[in-house]
Amino acid sequence: MARVVLKSLSKLFREVVAVDDLTLDVEDKEFLVLVGPSGCGKTTALRCIAGLEDVTTGEIYIGDRLVNDVSPKDRDIAMVFQNYALYPHKLRKFPKAEIQRRVTDAGEMLGLQGLLRRKPRELSGGQRQRVALGRAIVREPKVFLMDEPLSNLDAKLRVQTRAELIKLHRRLGITTIYVTHDQTEAMTMGDRIAVLNDGKMQQVDSPLALFNQPANMFVAGFIGTPAMNFLQATLESEDGRVYVKTDALRLQLPERCAARVRERVGRSVVFGVRPDDIYDRSLASQVGDGSEATLTVDVMEPMGSTVYVYLTAGKHALIADLDAETKAKDGEPLDVVFDMGKTHLFDPETEVVLT
Ligand code: ATP
Repeated sequence: MARVVLKSLSKLFREVVAVDDLTLDVEDKEFLVLVGPSGCGKTTALRCIAGLEDVTTGEIYIGDRLVNDVSPKDRDIAMVFQNYALYPHKLRKFPKAEIQRRVTDAGEMLGLQGLLRRKPRELSGGQRQRVALGRAIVREPKVFLMDEPLSNLDAKLRVQTRAELIKLHRRLGITTIYVTHDQTEAMTMGDRIAVLNDGKMQQVDSPLALFNQPANMFVAGFIGTPAMNFLQATLESEDGRVYVKTDALRLQLPERCAARVRERVGRSVVFGVRPDDIYDRSLASQVGDGSEATLTVDVMEPMGSTVYVYLTAGKHALIADLDAETKAKDGEPLDVVFDMGKTHLFDPETEVVLT
């Protein structure tokens, strides 16, 4: 078992900064998900930990050992790649019965029981991917490094294998760093999630903390579907109250938020509201002071228990995730309520959260 620590890790490919001053402390037995958009440096960071890339500057520790100069095969890690490539590791001597047990267990866990005797070319892409996972599992290493290991599986198998991996992690308790660009995978699998953008760490936190207290607009927009709505607005004050104002909205901030931004009154802010914090007024159980607005319905997308409603508020467009009972109709006005206690304000220049 081992902790993995990155200290100011940077990796440059000539002038391209793939990983930029990354500091991260993955606890022993933790399942940490590294998430971010394509090209943000996730794979490069993972390959540095595996020893497949030399680091440009910074330090990597596995357990208490500085591994910058340790070869991949001596790091006691198992890596699973997106494209089921093989990874160099030491052959280890185990008693036959032990090998049999581990292979049978892993095969069962991954639904490969009937396929264990097949040659690679006799397997589908998804099956090969599960074999690659199985190979990592039977080694029982100090650390698992996984780079989008589920991306070749079809949707149903992906959800199933995701659950299997979580159970596996619970059972083996092996420190795992898991790379994905899929925020649902990140939210459902990670003890903690590290969000990367442009090679830089944005925030490391539990899934719920990332969702409820995003540090900046990037994290707020990346975590959650549909994504958070962002509206350019200004802050106004009247009778001691503070309002967020756009051309078509005037919403009152709860006292707790108002206190934090009072000195910004008169200046611009970005107002952030998640689609599921907007309610159909006629179905809302409570309506806070100054939290109502009348918007125009553009398009509706029924999702089953809820419906995504695209709304226009003056020159802004926003999405609301409303109860399917809503009487909203295309092209008609709709009275909505904002759950103002759950909304966020951001600095338009730095994009850092204000409340
Ligand atoms: P994806 O999700 O698309 O795999 P990623 O977040 O894993 O993306 P990386 O593959 O780590 O991103 O790439 C980070 C940056 O480094 C990108 O700009 C990429 O073009 C660049 N890069 C990666 N590998 C190399 C390389 N061997 N030579 C030059 N540039 C590279």
